[in-house]
Amino acid sequence: MEIHENTSLKFYNTFGIDVKAKYFVELYSASDLIQVLQQKNFTKIPKLILGGGSNVLFTKDVDALVIHNCIKGIEVISETKEHVYVKSGGGEVWNDLVMYCVEKNYGGIENLSLIPGSVGAAPMQNIGAYGVELKETFYELEAIDILTAEKKIVEKEECKFGYRESIFKHEAKGKYFITSVTLRLNKNPQLNTNYGAIREELDKMNINQQPTIKNISDAICKIRRSKLPDPAIIGNAGSFFKNPTIAKEKFDELISKYPVMPNYPSQSVGTQLPNYPITYKLPAGWLIEQCGWRGKRIGNTGSHKDQALVLVNYGGATGEEIIALAKQIQQSVKEKFEVDIVAEVNVY
Ligand code: FAD
Ligand code: NAP
Repeated sequence: MEIHENTSLKFYNTFGIDVKAKYFVELYSASDLIQVLQQKNFTKIPKLILGGGSNVLFTKDVDALVIHNCIKGIEVISETKEHVYVKSGGGEVWNDLVMYCVEKNYGGIENLSLIPGSVGAAPMQNIGAYGVELKETFYELEAIDILTAEKKIVEKEECKFGYRESIFKHEAKGKYFITSVTLRLNKNPQLNTNYGAIREELDKMNINQQPTIKNISDAICKIRRSKLPDPAIIGNAGSFFKNPTIAKEKFDELISKYPVMPNYPSQSVGTQLPNYPITYKLPAGWLIEQCGWRGKRIGNTGSHKDQALVLVNYGGATGEEIIALAKQIQQSVKEKFEVDIVAEVNVY
């Protein structure tokens, strides 16, 4: 295991931002990681963990030891009549794990097909798409405490999963290196085709009867390939902002002013109480588009022409430029709708 100095991170982040890491190492096992964390000359140096770099924005050189997670291996560790427990190394590509499960007909993560990035980063923001979130199949994870180099098992409850949220984005931020994730998948899954575009795509594929796990995965891959800018062609980190959730009073005010505003009512997180206030999720992409940002370019950056929520690097953009654009967008959404939109991407 070799520790490099002043390494460019350009090819390690999907925005393609060219910054340097003071130190950089690729790790292939938990024991290598423990060894690095215990090296005397590195104990005081801050650490930054990197998976696929598809949810980060670098705004300056990284004055830290950047640890690129390359811990591989996917295995079935146990099964019951209904479930199968699959454990994956944190450095596996998330979509490779999805394809492994789809092929074996293990259900639960097919709607999360083609999300970029690593398995180890998936719990960070409880990845979600097309009506499904990681937390629905998540069982537990193994992590290493960066300060003490001790192993820890983190169960689902402790992760405090929420909408694109977990404990790892808050009180446990930067404290743990997730080395593996175990999922509990279904042998007889209830397939989720409720999300509008899936049904449409299945119809286009002439899947009229009960679709299979593979049909759903194929449909989602098709939709994603047709709608989302490919980071290999144009630098981006997917949705730059989270969809905001607003209270009913605010919603009533906005919907009377903008009757066509798309919205998704939901019970407040963690409550199923009958009279608990309903909140409304608004698509941030729509709010941004209404402010005239879709397809707008400023210098080397801009909001994508098909997906206003995706900020892009047309080539040579700096992280600072992208942040400046993000701030302008936040400000105009605030001025027009009096709604705050916050970054989903992790800014360094
Ligand atoms: P990185 O960008 O490498 O890291 C993200 C954060 O997690 C950083 O703070 C990093 O320090 C930390 N981290 C990474 N690995 C570990 C680890 N092993 N232990 C502890 N901390 C770690 N997200 C969705 O939820 N749904 C989508 O549908 C979706 N679609 C996307 C589409 C595109 C085109 C792109 C570019 C991104 C999309 N994303 C989506 C965002 C992104 O793919 C996910 O958040 C993904 O889980 C990030 O994984 P990564 O390995 O690239 O993480
Ligand atoms: P879309 O289908 O055009 O929908 C726009 C927004 O409306 C989505 O963000 C979604 O919220 C919400 N929405 C749509 N139908 C919904 C339903 N039936 N129930 C609840 N909410 C609904 O979105 P898109 O941009 O093409 O993305 C499709 C899916 O991929 C979404 O789930 C999105 O989150 C995910 N995605 C995520 C990223 C990322 O970087 N995080 C990037 C690309 C795509 P949700 O986001 O809560 O689903």
